[in-house]
Amino acid sequence: MSHPHPELQKPPRLPKNGLRVVGLGGLGEIGRNMTVFEHHGKLLIVDCGVLFPEEHQPGIDVILPDFSWIRDRLDSVVGLVLTHGHEDHIGGVPYLLRERADIPVIGSRLTLALIREKLKEHRIVPKLHEVAEGDRKPYGPFDLEFLAVNHSIPDGLAVGIRTSAGTVLHTGDFKMDQFPLDRRITDLRGFARLGEEGVDLFLTDSTNAEVPGFTMSERDLAPAIEQVFRTAPRRIIVSSFASHVHRIQQVLDTSHAHGRKVAFVGRSMVRNMGVAQELGYLKVPKGLIVPLDQLEKLPAHKATLVCTGSQGEPMAALARMANRDHKIRVGEGDTILMASSAVPGNENAISGLINNLSRWGAQVVHKGNAKVHVSGHASAGELVYCYNIVKPRNVMPVHGEWRHLKANADLAVATGVPEDHVVIAEDGVVVDLVDGHAKIVGKVRAGNVYVDAQTVGGATEATLKDRRTLAEEGVVTVLAIVDADTGTLADPPDFLVRGFVHEPNAFDPAVQVIEKTLARAAAEGIGDPQQLEQMLSREIGRWAHRAFRRSPLIIPLVIDA
Ligand SMILES: [Zn+2]
Repeated sequence: MSHPHPELQKPPRLPKNGLRVVGLGGLGEIGRNMTVFEHHGKLLIVDCGVLFPEEHQPGIDVILPDFSWIRDRLDSVVGLVLTHGHEDHIGGVPYLLRERADIPVIGSRLTLALIREKLKEHRIVPKLHEVAEGDRKPYGPFDLEFLAVNHSIPDGLAVGIRTSAGTVLHTGDFKMDQFPLDRRITDLRGFARLGEEGVDLFLTDSTNAEVPGFTMSERDLAPAIEQVFRTAPRRIIVSSFASHVHRIQQVLDTSHAHGRKVAFVGRSMVRNMGVAQELGYLKVPKGLIVPLDQLEKLPAHKATLVCTGSQGEPMAALARMANRDHKIRVGEGDTILMASSAVPGNENAISGLINNLSRWGAQVVHKGNAKVHVSGHASAGELVYCYNIVKPRNVMPVHGEWRHLKANADLAVATGVPEDHVVIAEDGVVVDLVDGHAKIVGKVRAGNVYVDAQTVGGATEATLKDRRTLAEEGVVTVLAIVDADTGTLADPPDFLVRGFVHEPNAFDPAVQVIEKTLARAAAEGIGDPQQLEQMLSREIGRWAHRAFRRSPLIIPLVIDA
């Protein structure tokens, strides 16, 4: 198996007959999926998503792929294909289009409707190219064919990319539900047809590669959902991803059958369901949906609420209800149906949410105590079928942490793909397909780009390190009035302490450290306040670590006397 070497360098020039593939996100992590293809001097991008921050990234809204590798060549981008409308595939689009607004954005009807709404908020009018399964259309040297795939949002597409260097099949996110609500199944006949023609490189979804067997059908949730509606004595509050049209369809249908009215709660839920209903993806019986204020006037056993917040996001409707920070008061007899599973990293937040909701007397039905969720991704069994059907010459697993990529690679090898034709690449690793063989040839920059409120890239790893230090160790500000000529303190220094357990007078012995440091600086002819601050920060930090076994953030302020 081909693994990236830790000291990979800048890649060589791409041979004329070669196809270059670089994942700028989604390889080695779940989220911010973005794959760039280069051929004959042109670039094709598949997806541009965001990654949601974890606890060790405080204050960050979302994380973007690093565009620096393509920034100087945005004019060569012939198109941006969006495989489906999930945030981890489309969330980064506004930030890419800020750099070049007229990149053709190619996707299915629902995907484009969702991105159009999102771009409105960013005041960007995109160039949208709507495609559907079965369409074939060239973009520069890339001859694209779109195939239907089934996933946890409707209207997903896989993309076949024919080039003079070979043919690529990129699945996007997919699974193989044989009985989806919309009867639109993953086009295995199309996969087979492309396989027959010859697939030189197969990029396939690794998210569930470690899960044995087959992902259950969305329809298998019907009995558990029915059970909730049959037994709930009062209100039912359902939380789900705002894009899971089929899950919400099941909730609407069951509500209707039990004579309950439904209100959508939360901006993204209202917006997305509006779009899905308008385009016919969500089928709503007449009179079923009512505004929230009307629903509140109905008897509790006639009411269903559908809201966001299934991941414990603090600002989403469900968490605010649990914290009594929402006009909807959860109480005794309410039933909460959490119709989703935890995205890795969110388990603690979700557990806290379940505790809070239960504390108010609500009955919480979740994945842990009822069959109310199935995954949106193909399990190992489905992936093996795909390898056997497509018979790819080379395989590059995508969408997953290292363990998922490795598990998917192992499946490819088990079906007979030669080991040296299976490439495990992390973000930024450059893979060239030349003469029918895909190989790792180098690495480009692909770090985290942090969005922090209005700034993109302003917050860096150093910022996050400071924030973590502030959170865990506290901060000590040292105000020193210095006579730079003599290198002496004009007054005793002041210590201001926040989030640090020791009193300011615990720093009295540090005065000697400051005096020594200033004397040394004067001897070396250093009088610049900024340089003095750096020296003081280092020396006081060392002293504090010796004295307290803690490393607070030290902020010296040197004022010239
Ligand atoms: Zn997805």
